[in-house]
Amino acid sequence: MSDCLFCKMVSGEIAPDKVYEDKDVLAFRDVNPQAPLHVLVIPKAHITTLNDVDEANAALLGKMYHAVKKITQQEGVAEDGFRTVMNCNQDGGQTVFHIHLHLLAGRALQWPPG
Ligand code: 5GP
Ligand code: ZN
Repeated sequence: MSDCLFCKMVSGEIAPDKVYEDKDVLAFRDVNPQAPLHVLVIPKAHITTLNDVDEANAALLGKMYHAVKKITQQEGVAEDGFRTVMNCNQDGGQTVFHIHLHLLAGRALQWPPG
């Protein structure tokens, strides 16, 4: 999608601070980190919100979580632990409309979230 920020990162029009990439998934550091490690994991294919996941694209979610495993090992946070969050639409706090998983680590995170 030409006017989508994260599609521009996939195409290379905008260069993210990349931490992981494979055929289907890209991961890069969040520009406004909420934890010592704050990575956004996205499918390269444009999916606007979690409401747009369907039979045809659902396998991408599994690939995103497989990327999480690789990144947490690579960044050395797997053992101490981490949190993944996906926000959807207004009440979820979604601000970029290309689905992304927040991977947060490096400090003890509070629960419940605000
Ligand atoms: P959301 O609020 O949609 O769940 O998360 C969007 C995330 O994208 C936010 O954490 C925000 O800091 C991050 N973000 C917004 N613009 C950019 C950008 O240009 N580069 C990077 N790396 N992250 C961005
Ligand atoms: Zn997009």
